[in-house]
Amino acid sequence: LPNQSSDTALIAVDIGGTLIKLVYFENNVKVKGKQAVGGRLRFMKFQTSRLDECLEFIRSVKLPYSGGSAMGSAKVNLTMKATGGGSFKFADTIKEKLGVSLDKLDEMDTVVTGANFLLKQVPNESFTFAHGKRCHIEVNQKNLYPYLLVNIGSGVSMIKVLGNRNFERVTGTQIGGGTMFGLAKLLTGCTRYDEFLQLSQQGDNLVLDLIVKDICGELVCQKQGLSASTLASSFGKVISSKRELSDYKAEDLATTLLSAFTYNIAQVSFLVASLLKLKRVYFGGSYIRGHPSTMDNISYAIDFWSKGQMQAVFLRHEGFLGALGALLSYND
Ligand code: ADP
Repeated sequence: LPNQSSDTALIAVDIGGTLIKLVYFENNVKVKGKQAVGGRLRFMKFQTSRLDECLEFIRSVKLPYSGGSAMGSAKVNLTMKATGGGSFKFADTIKEKLGVSLDKLDEMDTVVTGANFLLKQVPNESFTFAHGKRCHIEVNQKNLYPYLLVNIGSGVSMIKVLGNRNFERVTGTQIGGGTMFGLAKLLTGCTRYDEFLQLSQQGDNLVLDLIVKDICGELVCQKQGLSASTLASSFGKVISSKRELSDYKAEDLATTLLSAFTYNIAQVSFLVASLLKLKRVYFGGSYIRGHPSTMDNISYAIDFWSKGQMQAVFLRHEGFLGALGALLSYND
């Protein structure tokens, strides 16, 4: 990145509905006692509801424009690249508390720039996932576009990407990570996302989900060649049961929630990709969280619905697309 003196860091933030993603580029990095060429990118997340913790961190970092002093003591008028809806909502607060103005960037533009950068410049960034294993894929640089970018955050955005600054936000759905985790909080009492994901690993979705066999009976399934274990209705078993919420285990509720939302988002992604005749679907957003069964379910659904014609591809830095795109805009 240009115009950066040594011993300083460039920061960009993506302030979302749930999380603040922060990416910073450290110049003065020593690896094994030696000065690293080019520096190092660092990635951090904070709860948006805990903006103060994020500001505290930024205050502790030396920024290039602050004349070498820590931000807290900087007197000059500083600007920081920022994206996400919260960059509008919290601009005044940040100005007041940090003395920093936000240079606000278009959210979709930064997400696309970040994804393209990762796909083109970062080795081993993208991978497919099947049966619990990552399989790294080489991105064909000449044949990267067009692709569908599905960014699963609090809500979901679906973007047709044709190049840098060349994209269309085709559609999206408000039924996203925020919906799932909101319901999870109410139903399971989980307050931390990782706790919820862990819980979901220990549950059995068949306690709540209605499958084809439950409706037709095993014999009919066999006779008619129906797939007995196919999901017919997520949470559908609850209706005919006398059990109350407290009779269900939190882990079973968590498993059912995660699979219901994940399959649904994957299916909508498939439909959008089909309509646009796109074969490659890249998934980003903190919803995925590198979580094996989330990626397994997305991969399975895309493969199943497309009859093997489409592939779900994931990114190692899935949650930081917007923040990275914002950081790269220091180059503009
Ligand atoms: P946004 O920009 O809307 O905040 P993100 O891409 O950061 O979106 O994704 C937010 C979603 O990621 C949440 O809705 C939840 O599904 C998931 N998530 C991952 N990590 C966390 C976390 N630590 N706290 C809350 N939600 C998390």
